[in-house]
Order: sequence, then structure tokens, then C-alpha cells
Amino acid sequence: MADIIQLLPDHVANQIAAGEVVQRPASVVKELLENAIDAQATSIKLLVKEAGKTLIQVIDDGKGMSTTDARLSFERHATSKIKSADDLFKLNTKGFRGEALASIAAIAHVELKTKQEQEEVGTSIVIEGSEIVSQEVVVTPKGTSIAVKNLFFNIPARRNFLKSNAVELRHIIDEFHRVTLAHPNISFAMYHNGSESFQLPESNYRQRIVNIFGNKTNEKLVPVDEDTEVLKISGFVGKPEYAKKSRGEQFFFVNDRFIKSAYLNHAIASAFEGLLKDGAHPSYFLNLQVDPQTIDINIHPTKTEIKFDDEHTLYAILRSAVKHSLGQFNIAPVIDFDRDANLDTPYGFKNKGASTPTIEVDRSFNPFEEEKIPVAKPQSTSYKKEPAGSWESLYVGLESKSTKTQQDYSEVQFESDEETASIFTNENEIEQQQSTYQLNNKYIISKVKSGMLLIDQHRAHQRILYEDFLKNLTVKEAMSQQLLFPLQLHFSSQEITIIHQVKEDLEHTGFMFASINNDSIEITGVPVSVPESEVSIILEQLISDVENEVPDSNFSATDLLAKSMSKSLAIKTGQSLSLQEQEHLVNKLFACKEPNVSPTNRPTFVTMTMDELDRKFL
Ligand code: ADP
Ligand code: MG
Repeated sequence: MADIIQLLPDHVANQIAAGEVVQRPASVVKELLENAIDAQATSIKLLVKEAGKTLIQVIDDGKGMSTTDARLSFERHATSKIKSADDLFKLNTKGFRGEALASIAAIAHVELKTKQEQEEVGTSIVIEGSEIVSQEVVVTPKGTSIAVKNLFFNIPARRNFLKSNAVELRHIIDEFHRVTLAHPNISFAMYHNGSESFQLPESNYRQRIVNIFGNKTNEKLVPVDEDTEVLKISGFVGKPEYAKKSRGEQFFFVNDRFIKSAYLNHAIASAFEGLLKDGAHPSYFLNLQVDPQTIDINIHPTKTEIKFDDEHTLYAILRSAVKHSLGQFNIAPVIDFDRDANLDTPYGFKNKGASTPTIEVDRSFNPFEEEKIPVAKPQSTSYKKEPAGSWESLYVGLESKSTKTQQDYSEVQFESDEETASIFTNENEIEQQQSTYQLNNKYIISKVKSGMLLIDQHRAHQRILYEDFLKNLTVKEAMSQQLLFPLQLHFSSQEITIIHQVKEDLEHTGFMFASINNDSIEITGVPVSVPESEVSIILEQLISDVENEVPDSNFSATDLLAKSMSKSLAIKTGQSLSLQEQEHLVNKLFACKEPNVSPTNRPTFVTMTMDELDRKFL
């Protein structure tokens, strides 16, 4: 038979990529603003017409591009920001995929003007649906201006999918807020249909917030500052009395990048516990700085989700920092009997001078003494009392692998050399007992015949839960636990629309709704596996996942729901697990249909064979 596989032409590949990168006008705004920031602009203007449907233009005073670069910038995977995959882990630019301009040019009319400072003249390029229409020398100020006109002109289905101007403008403004809040040191302006919407001079963070959200905001802000080894937090939370029913002004930035995290959001909500009226959401503007090596931002094309190495600890520090601020500013009761001592460590240390630790020395300590390995002791003593019959246990020991007999076996074998005997015995014992080991509260090491497995606990658990949920969703027989008191949760009308969309599927997982109103829902039952305290996290995560889902890329509500719920509920990295929990997790993982990958197709474990290990010791 003739060969049938062929490479897609570039403009088709670009259009497909555009589906991921450009969902709506706001996505273009985000990409263009980020490019301007990456180009070290100090002043950036955004011009929008008809909610971006006819024009989105970003003008910056950044470093501009050479003529060759200007041309190259529209090629797919053309980026000046990373050179190798390793660079992904020390990223300090917004972009890195080199896909944005190529994608935008595939689905719109684009006019680029750019000039580098040292050049006399600049370059102008017009490109329509990936076709270069013209390239000229122009007189233009230093920096870059990119105008994107007639978005989706060649994909009518996507164009028709766009919402009303009011909705699309809302999305653009949201994006503008996120970018401008992350960069108070850059001045921004935004104009819609010719009139000024925002004028934000370079300022400090508080002023930037006030310039965006209005003068009244100033008195509502409580500063949060925390500096630990793993995480620096700065920014503000809103005073509890100003909390609103709608979840409006909630911003997390990680290393200057806006992110969404239902889990971290929950950390803040829990810091406000007892201070808010029912259904009110606190506002927050928080910047988290972490080591870029400990995050993975590459998991979503629009990059609002981040995977942290140690989410669990971040949660604890964040919650504690916010609680502390609320307490310090006399907003919360200062004495907090509920305080989880673990979470307060940073403060405990902060105000204390260093004190010399007392050292206790056990002078009778002998590392070779049996006693030091606790499990073995009682059995071996009892054994020594009855030396008779030991030859029998020799055979038992060979037949059975039970701990007890193994031990007897070695005792007999090495009777003449007691010390050696006990060391061997105990090692066997430990091996028998402990087949898993948790590394850095992140990986589980499990021994297998050919070597070892290193399992990512979060991803593994996600896989397990995902398959469980999928089964429930398709079989539609999930168990539900009735809540003693119905749970009332508040949402915006946009969020309620989404809940309506997924209601039926949610019911198949075990959720029960008493009512869904305009701004709240009442839940009377939840899936057996879902603790009541997690319900709001799950729903928030789910809503944001549905919002983020690329509209027409084989959207399956069932799959999305299973993915989203497993993401919310899976044990986090940073969580310590008992031996039993570790083993259970490993067993459940390998009972899965697809144990090798997480629901988002990332590896759940890696193997290391004895051979590979041996080679490392050569
Ligand atoms: P990425 O930002 O991921 O590198 P883009 O497609 O957004 O990919 O941009 C491609 C390249 O074009 C960038 O790496 C950068 O070199 C250049 N570029 C884009 N916008 C600007 C700008 N406003 N100023 C200077 N250079 C730019
Ligand atoms: Mg970019």
C-alpha cells in the first residue's frame, strides 16, 4: 500500500496551534503584552476596538527587533528566549514557546512595526493568514507596535463562537489587570474604542492596585510579607469586612506570572476562617517568589496553571502568613487556639535569637548493639531462650518467607558469630517489612525484582482517582454521602452557568444539589471519597478548568470532570505518607488500567534497574 502519512503544511499547523494559544481576543492581548514586557519596555499602550474583534494593538518602547528577527518572529517555534529544554527551568521571561506570533498571524491580519534603538529606520511587515503581504523599511520610534485586526477572519466557526462585546471586553480587562498588577514598575495605558480606560503610571505595588481598582481600595489593604527559605510572599489581602459575595479581586502571581490555584486560594480562605460573613470571598493581591527550579509552568498552553514541587508546604506558609498579617493588624483575634503549630515555624524562628541547642549524648550507645534496631529485639531474645528445635526452623525458614522464620534461620546460621548474625537478621527484617520509602515527601521509592521504581506521589494518586471517577461517571452508580447540614456555596452568575453545564455529570459522581440559584448553590450530598471541606476547592477548580478548556478541542465533560476532581483531591507533593499509605498507593496505582501516566499524560513513575544502578558505580 502507498504511504499515507504526510507533514502538515506550516499554515495548517499554525492554525491548529492557534486553537490552543488563541481562544479569544483576550489571549492575544495577553501574548502581546507579555512580549512587550519580555522586550524590557518601560511604557506599554494597549488599544482595543470592539472588544478586540476588529483591533488589538500593543505599542511598546522595548528593545525592538532587527529586520531578520522581525521576519523570523512569525515562524513557529521561533523564540529568542530559550535555547534548550533545560532553560525551561530557569525561565525569567513570560514567553518561551515561540508560538504566539505564528499562531496569531495564522488567524488574523497582523501589522508589525519595529525598530531597535541604534538603527535609523525600522521594519514594517504585514502578514495575513500566515502569508506575508508586504515588508518595508519605515520610520518608526524605538520599540515595537503590533496591530492584530479581524481576529479569526479565516475561521468563521471560531469567530461565531466569540461572546458579546461586553463579555470579551471583560476578559481583556481581566488579562490587563493580571499583567499590570504583576509589573507596577512599567507604565501602562489602555484605550477602548478611542477612549481611555486605564492610565497606570509606574508606581509601587499599593499604588498600582489603587490606580486600577479605585481610591477606596487603599484603606482596605492589609500588607502581607513573609520570607522563608522556600517561599517569599509579598502583597496585600483585603480586610475581611470588605469581602464580597463575588470572587472578584483575587490574584496570585508566582515569579511575576499570574496563576490560578484553587488549592492556594483555599489556603487564604482558611486563613480568613471565622472572619468572613457567609459566602463572602476575601480579595488578595499576592506575589509569591519561589525558586524557578521548583515549579513547572509548561503544563498548559495558556500558562495560568503551575505545578509546584511542594504545594503542601506552600499552602501552610501562605495560610500562616495571611493569618499573621490579619492578626498583626488587629483584624483577627491575636491568640488563636486552633493554630497548627507546624505551620507557624517561620514566625517562631523569626523573632528568636539563636540559642545553642542542648546535646544529649548517650554514652552507652553502641551502633552494633541489637537494641538499636527495634523490631528485631524481642524475637531474637525469645529465640535464644529456646535453642532446642532450631534445626526445624532451618527448614521452615527456607520454605516460608515469614519474618519470624527468616530470623530464626539466620540466627542459626551465624550462631558462632553473634554480632554478624544480628546485623544480617535485622537487615532482612527491614527489607521484608518496608518495601517502600518516601523521598522528600514527593516520591515513593518502591523495590521491585529488577531494581526500583520512583513514583511521583501526586501524579500516581491523580491517576488512581481519575480512573475511579471515570468509572463512576460512566457506570453512574457512584455512592453519595448525605450531608448533615446542606452546604451553601456562593458563585458568580458566570460560574453558575458552568455549574449548570456540568450538573448532571457531577450528580453521577455522587454530588446532590438541593438548588442552584442565581448566585449560590445548595449541596446536600457529596461523593463518598470527597471530604466536605474539599467541596469548594473541587468546584472552583472545576469551574476554572471548564473556563480554560479550549472550546472546540474534543471537549468531553466527563473526562474533564474526572481530571479536575482527581487533580483537586490527589495527595499533594510535600505531604508525608505512612508506610501503609505508601504501599496502598503503589498497589492501587498498579491496579490501574494505565498506571504509567497521569491523567494529563505525564509519567507517574520512572524505573531504575539494577544494571543502571550498577553502571553508576563503575
Ligand atoms: P515567545 O514569546 O514565546 O518567544 P512569540 O511568538 O511571542 O514567542 O515571539 C517570538 C519572538 O519575537 C520573541 O522571542 C521575541 O524575540 C520577538 N518579539 C515578539 N514580540 C516582541 C516585542 N514586542 N519586542 C521585541 N521582540 C519581540
Ligand atoms: Mg510571546
